Amino acid sequence: MAIARPRQWLDGRKTISSLNVLVISDIHANLAALQAVLEAASDVDAIWNLGDTVGYGPRPRECVDTMFDLAFTHPANQVLAGNHDLACLGEIDLAEFNPAAQAAGRWTAHQLGIDHQEYLRNLPAMTISEGYTLAHASPRSPVWEYITNITVATENFAHFDTDACFIGHTHVAMFAALRPGASHAELGQLRDGDVLALSGARFLINPGSVGQPRDRDPRAAYGILDTEGRTLTAHRVDYDIPKTQRQMALANLPDVLMNRLSQGI
Ligand code: ZN
Repeated sequence: MAIARPRQWLDGRKTISSLNVLVISDIHANLAALQAVLEAASDVDAIWNLGDTVGYGPRPRECVDTMFDLAFTHPANQVLAGNHDLACLGEIDLAEFNPAAQAAGRWTAHQLGIDHQEYLRNLPAMTISEGYTLAHASPRSPVWEYITNITVATENFAHFDTDACFIGHTHVAMFAALRPGASHAELGQLRDGDVLALSGARFLINPGSVGQPRDRDPRAAYGILDTEGRTLTAHRVDYDIPKTQRQMALANLPDVLMNRLSQGI
């Protein structure tokens, strides 16, 4: 007889949980990439999606529906709103985006039904779950700020209280570590298979982008957080890029957005 391994112990008001969490960001309406990630990480306990579920890609409705359906699979699941989600709702002016993103944003806005809009409108851009901070862009400016260098990364450690914070937005899988007493954070890339031990420092971690990677690895990116072992493992998975590109061509989405998927730029 198999005895299920207990995942959670309740001790009065304190919850001690042991979870494997799939951490994803920037799906950008790329359903083929999202499905490949969900299949590769099918044994996780919870999912944290750091935002930009739509924008750029050809399947916004299906990606929102998928996140909506997943919302009820575990109480620790979280979904954030990103700048592209907000732009497609009209809450950010599309004029702030480059021409290709504007065109895709207008197309996406027409695709979304009232229920999709309602769902996206109610998402936070930042939250805390299981003792981890989650923000779309940065803890200092959750919708817009790009954490791309040591100075910006270092400054952002003053803007969250937990030991680690997950971010998306740049579409680059990376981490920043701030050791006790250090004046500056150290930055590192996260490549497929890298295991980051979340100890001895505070961390900002970007799992990379599911639907439009920009770190020259075109495979869909995701991370698996082990809350008990306190590790983050970076993963990449192949998906059917030509399929997404064909869907984009049929929707008349800009060529530049289609072509970049093959190169991961
Ligand atoms: Zn994005």
